[in-house]
Amino acid sequence: MNPRIQMVDLQSQYQKIKEEIDGAIRKVLLHGKFINGPEVKEFADNLADYVGVKHVIPCGNGTDALMISLIALGLKEGDEVVVPAFSYIAPAEVIAFRELIPVLVDVDERTFNFSSEHLEKSITAKTKVIMPVHLFGQACDMAPIIQLAKKYDLDVVEDNAQSLGAEYIHPDGSRQYTGTIGKISCTSFFPAKNLGCYGDGGALFTDDDELAEKIRMIANHGQSQKYKHDIIGCNSRLDTLQAAVLNVKLRYLSTYNAARIEVAEKYTEAFKNIPDIDTPVQKEFSTHVYNQYTLKVRERRDELKTWLEKKGIPTTVYYPFPLQKQAALKGLTRTASTLDVSNRLCEEVLSLPIHTEMVPTEQNYIIEAVLDFFK
Ligand SMILES: *Cc1c(COP(=O)(O)O)cnc(C)c1O
Repeated sequence: MNPRIQMVDLQSQYQKIKEEIDGAIRKVLLHGKFINGPEVKEFADNLADYVGVKHVIPCGNGTDALMISLIALGLKEGDEVVVPAFSYIAPAEVIAFRELIPVLVDVDERTFNFSSEHLEKSITAKTKVIMPVHLFGQACDMAPIIQLAKKYDLDVVEDNAQSLGAEYIHPDGSRQYTGTIGKISCTSFFPAKNLGCYGDGGALFTDDDELAEKIRMIANHGQSQKYKHDIIGCNSRLDTLQAAVLNVKLRYLSTYNAARIEVAEKYTEAFKNIPDIDTPVQKEFSTHVYNQYTLKVRERRDELKTWLEKKGIPTTVYYPFPLQKQAALKGLTRTASTLDVSNRLCEEVLSLPIHTEMVPTEQNYIIEAVLDFFK
């Protein structure tokens, strides 16, 4: 048996909600308000209610959201923003693009997220923002980050592109969705994210009324009223068609995340006795919504990848290079600690297919193939 396995199966997902999606899209085609149509505000309000934040400001994509957050906070050339070294490039990229300095911090080898042990060392008088990235579907350990932000008077900007729907669990047991903790949070609706549209999309979250107003202006040419431009901004909008799709898919977000968790738990159970791999951990401070199911494979990662490929099973290395090895960032970053864990993780990580439509026959086939490799 060689089922057609994909990292993410958006076609099968669409087939199940086709009528609702088609209806929502048709409605937009008929009213014709393709920019800032009623679906955009409706979606922003629905998402704000879902996560429990005062303002959701939709924009063009997750990278724009990060960029707009830095502009809104009024950061100046040479200001420093602390980011994890093991991550997607977007956070460090926009920081450098704004002529700010990304300060790279090593990550925890089990959670793949910020290592609080190294965080304080990286803070200087120039540091203005800590930017935790909730990687692969799990929240960073936020308590020490919040504490440091208070101590040094820094803002926290969450990159929540991979973890929409995950809950951070405070030391006192209270829960809060990721993306509602920092001063600003950024997310992406790229198709493969936990809440994905059918193209590009993103949003910023904040509880701060003034900041929300400023963010809205920046995303819309710095406009305070039509053709009156008060600050330099950009054009970053969520299309009405994408908002219509997201409005439908938001209704399924909890179900979709539950489906991902089920797949992840089955993998973890199946692989628990393989000494050469570490399955993802779920820490006491977070739920996990598994945007990725990422193994750590000692020694034979690339061999396993090829083995699975030959059996028709795609896998992906998120990420093959840490930020300190990216040519684009050369000479633009600062580092206050060793980045050994980030370097090593890039040699060891392997993400298996995980999505909302994974059926047992597919998953069993993947599990068997992995177990066979280690036999
Ligand atoms: C996807 C992603 C982004 C960027 O989102 P886009 O919508 O593709 O611009 C930023 N940060 C992280 C961690 C991501 O995974």
